Amino acid sequence: MKKSELFTSAFKEYDIRGIVPNIINEDFSYRLGLTIAIILHSKNIKSIILGRDGRISSKVLLLALQKGLLDNNINVINIGQVPTPIVYFATHHHISNSGIAVTGSHNPPNYNGFKIIIDNKPLYGKEIRNLKNGVLNNNTRIFKERGLLQTLDFTKKYINKIHSTVKLSKSMSVVIDTGNGVVGPTAVKLLKKIGCNLKTLFPRIDGSFPNHYPNPSDPNNLKTIISYLKKSDCEIGLAFDGDGDRLFVITKSGEIIWPDRLMILFVRNLLKNNPKSKIIYDIKSTKNLKNIILESGGIPIIWKSGHSLIKAKIKQTNAILAGETSGHFFFNDSSWYGFDDGLYAGCKLLEILSKFDNPSEILESLPNSITTPEIIINTPSTSEAKKIVKKFKNNFTHEKHTQITQIDGLRVDYNNGFGLIRSSNTTPSIMMRFEAYNQCDLEK
Ligand SMILES: [Zn+2]
Repeated sequence: MKKSELFTSAFKEYDIRGIVPNIINEDFSYRLGLTIAIILHSKNIKSIILGRDGRISSKVLLLALQKGLLDNNINVINIGQVPTPIVYFATHHHISNSGIAVTGSHNPPNYNGFKIIIDNKPLYGKEIRNLKNGVLNNNTRIFKERGLLQTLDFTKKYINKIHSTVKLSKSMSVVIDTGNGVVGPTAVKLLKKIGCNLKTLFPRIDGSFPNHYPNPSDPNNLKTIISYLKKSDCEIGLAFDGDGDRLFVITKSGEIIWPDRLMILFVRNLLKNNPKSKIIYDIKSTKNLKNIILESGGIPIIWKSGHSLIKAKIKQTNAILAGETSGHFFFNDSSWYGFDDGLYAGCKLLEILSKFDNPSEILESLPNSITTPEIIINTPSTSEAKKIVKKFKNNFTHEKHTQITQIDGLRVDYNNGFGLIRSSNTTPSIMMRFEAYNQCDLEK
């Protein structure tokens, strides 16, 4: 494949990612820096925050990105090796309101990528496509002056902020699995600080991920924490993805409380103090969630899957909370900033649960349904996947549905469940999910 084709393949709908070094490499990263600098100048922004995860490739990629930005006269504030939420947090505490996390998130070690915030807004869709053109064409600096480099630490400020916001009613015994991701050391400090009696699994940063990939949405990666919970005296388990923007929760008996079900607890809690507020959930979420939001006096908003798309929707609607089935939770009430933060969500959860004698019982009593996992069918190309989904949309006829939603593929709700078909934004494939209240209905 030609270099331009390789570079092009890194630009997804809501972030930039690919295999290192074939697609994402120093050349790519430098060009990205040059291009983002030009975008920042056009918005009259003079500086940007940079942070990176614990992957082996992240340091050189960050340095190349930094060089591109400096070469085109943007000042860089390098905040070092930090979870992605700390990059987002720093953008709220610095005049630039802009930041880039160099991170491959939960993906295997040979992946890397970039999550970009400019002027408090995530980059997605058309803006990512514009960026692509810049990266393909820019490889030399256009500014004579060079930007200044500064290093700053935001981790302490971040931990202190959560510590002053979240109050546990009593100490809790918690086990965390951070899968050797960059989130490990921060999670340990933070959870101890808010008052947890903490046990840790794989807290050391190791970009080769020797124990399991830092992707807690795959139950195979939760086996260790599940068996630890069963044999230890820990009350609850928290699993974070590699860069810490996602959270998964496991009860004492080893039951995984999937994120859309966990949202029910957050929804009930937040709507108590913020009645009639808007709550966003993604298209893959359980039917129960909408019902609970309505029951609790909130306004439900269903939206497309994808962390950048959800962040943009929060800005547009001023919803107080959003959640995705992938484990991204976005708190936007008076206590937090509206970005996806697995660490903050984990602390908030412990605050709620610390009021009860048996946290696992509270979680396991949340309304439940039967769902299929995400069923993925690979297609030769993304356009092929889109074509198939379009065909479904055009030919769909079924009388017994209660609602049809077409913002992201086709979701058909029935009284007793839903079916969803959509094309993936990250890989050439079709994704399907089905939910019902009993196995027989699910089969139908
Ligand atoms: Zn992540």
